[in-house]
Amino acid sequence: MKVDIHVHFELLEDIEEKIERCKKDNFHALIANGINLEANKLALNLSKKYPLIKASFGLYPDELENLNESQINETFSFIEKNIKNIVALGEIGLDFSNPSWNKEKQIKVFERFISLGKKHNLALIIHSRKAEKEVIDILEKNKASKVVLHCFSGNFKLIEKAYSLNYNFSIPCTIVKSEHFQKLVKEIKIENLLTETDSPFLSPFKDKKNEPFFINETLKKISEIKQISLKEAENKLFENYKRLFEN
Ligand SMILES: [Zn+2]
Repeated sequence: MKVDIHVHFELLEDIEEKIERCKKDNFHALIANGINLEANKLALNLSKKYPLIKASFGLYPDELENLNESQINETFSFIEKNIKNIVALGEIGLDFSNPSWNKEKQIKVFERFISLGKKHNLALIIHSRKAEKEVIDILEKNKASKVVLHCFSGNFKLIEKAYSLNYNFSIPCTIVKSEHFQKLVKEIKIENLLTETDSPFLSPFKDKKNEPFFINETLKKISEIKQISLKEAENKLFENYKRLFEN
């Protein structure tokens, strides 16, 4: 069965129609990734309404700039209160692309999520823009487990490091043209790979916004690179999903 571990439903139009397309095509799960309190609440509501949708709660690093201590605590209280209803923590991580953002604040919140993940045995779905090395260092220092690096753009030295720590990589649909992700899939064992869209971002088609159904494009490319059948790629990636998110 097929899975999309990274969707931003608050940014998608015609959700019902998109879910229907997946239901008819052997999809098992679409993980709604929350980026703030509001999106976490939406993820929870959608997961209650649609069996295909699973919720993941997070706090996107950019969002922290607009939040004070008590608002951050409020988000964590909501997460802990509803923790039995989620399959992962994310989208979380570090983003140092804007030098004026508060790095220490980001690191503090990221570490808080890592320890919450360990406490509840939840997978972490991690964003790492312009902070790939810092993310790996912090995960290692905090002995994080069930790590999923989303759309990881770090260099191959860092990829090898993350792989040696048994971290997982979720591969975006842009693999259809991205040499970086094609090489990553070639070098890393399929047991450490997952599929994601980051819908509505990172579309494999120039003229279309991304949606979960386009996981099919990623599956095609992975099966081609690994020289296995489409069905075998789908089955192996599904095993990885189950091990990390439903265990
Ligand atoms: Zn995302």
